[in-house]
Amino acid sequence: MLPHESGKGAGGGATTRPCGICALIERCRAGSFADFVAELPHSFVILGDAQFYRGYCVVLAKRHINEIHLMPPDEARALFDETVAVGRAIALATRPLKLNYECLGNLEPHVHWHVFPRFETDAMRAAPVWIRPEAERKVALEDSDRLALIRTLAGELRRQIPAARVAVER
Ligand SMILES: [Zn+2]
Repeated sequence: MLPHESGKGAGGGATTRPCGICALIERCRAGSFADFVAELPHSFVILGDAQFYRGYCVVLAKRHINEIHLMPPDEARALFDETVAVGRAIALATRPLKLNYECLGNLEPHVHWHVFPRFETDAMRAAPVWIRPEAERKVALEDSDRLALIRTLAGELRRQIPAARVAVER
């Protein structure tokens, strides 16, 4: 879940409510989002807010579009390739038992991929991440750990995708 996904929902129909993900992307562009990891050619990558799954990232499509099937096929594939690169970076950084990739958008209908590492130590590892109570999964990492993790993920993304823009040294 993203920080702004409060659970209120958009009501399903046309709405004038501003898009939370577009707002988040603006903060990434402005350098004012602390959990920014990298800007890739088709996406922004951020550390997600459920760090019970240490390394969990969200890949935000740069362009506001509600559904993958409404993207030109090349763009959808490029976004998927970037999501897989994020999965590879998380795998290298955290050595999980398994990765989960999810493209939901029920609360924020702007295409984004959730990439979750799952660990042996998780007693609920066979269940979807969302089954775990929000208060348990939405934990923050200690600041030095968070920054080290962001640095590792960003470095790995830079290695895989040379065009990646990552946060300057913090
Ligand atoms: Zn949007």
